[in-house]
Amino acid sequence: MGRWPADYDGAWTLAASVARSGVGLHSGAMVSVTLCPSEQAGIQVSWEEDGASGERLSLAPSQVRDSQLCTTLELGTRRLATVEHLLAALGGTGLTHVHLRVSGAEIPLLDGSAQGWVEAIAEAGIVPAASPRLERPSLEQPIVRHRGASVISATPAEAFQLVGVIDFPQAAIGRQQLALTLTPERFVDEIAPARTFGFHDQVEQLRAAGLIQGGALDNALVCDGDHWLNPPLRFADEPVRHKLLDLIGDLALVGFPRAQVLVYRGSHGLHTDLAAALASPSSTRC
Ligand SMILES: [Zn+2]
Repeated sequence: MGRWPADYDGAWTLAASVARSGVGLHSGAMVSVTLCPSEQAGIQVSWEEDGASGERLSLAPSQVRDSQLCTTLELGTRRLATVEHLLAALGGTGLTHVHLRVSGAEIPLLDGSAQGWVEAIAEAGIVPAASPRLERPSLEQPIVRHRGASVISATPAEAFQLVGVIDFPQAAIGRQQLALTLTPERFVDEIAPARTFGFHDQVEQLRAAGLIQGGALDNALVCDGDHWLNPPLRFADEPVRHKLLDLIGDLALVGFPRAQVLVYRGSHGLHTDLAAALASPSSTRC
């Protein structure tokens, strides 16, 4: 292998543990997570507060709760918020066996992209896993889900292909579209650096309501109509790339299908609708 796996068919874990800490988007508190090698397929979470003997919970798509601003996991009596950029980095780089040791109720936001997680994974290194990976989801016919004017579809294909389309009234964003066949290397170069974005008027409202206490101009692009409050952008079409990053994170728990996934005006709710359909193939007929 080069620096990253060639595709999403292998079974890979980390060569060493690596930790990151930072501000949580919602609480504004310092939170941390250690990414550790695992012999078990899938992603497992335990809490530092429980000590070394703490229970490891395996993550599953059924634990995903769409919340207003991010994806939250419901794990027994606990919740773990803002998981999507970390999950995108784990799945996107091809990792299949990972144990996360978490301290706090959310994952650090870092710079609002998956870049910091990719750097952490690169620092630890990737090695072949000791056990087989979980099966990738398969589909024999198209799946279509919609919420209002927003649509997501998955059509059988040779590889994991993504098509993202966004259409915002704000002139700084407007209509953007991007199509790519995802590989770990393309994820790292073309998707992981794209930061989350928000709107100036909404940011003020959310903050006044006590939400996004950790939100700041250094962890989200903020749009004010026809301009950005904190340029420069990392890509001219950074918003649509971030939308695909969120989709990748929301599909990481169910696995990447051999399908073309098209999302028009996506949301975490729409992504998780598709993840649920992929996780239970009997319900996929449309
Ligand atoms: Zn995001």
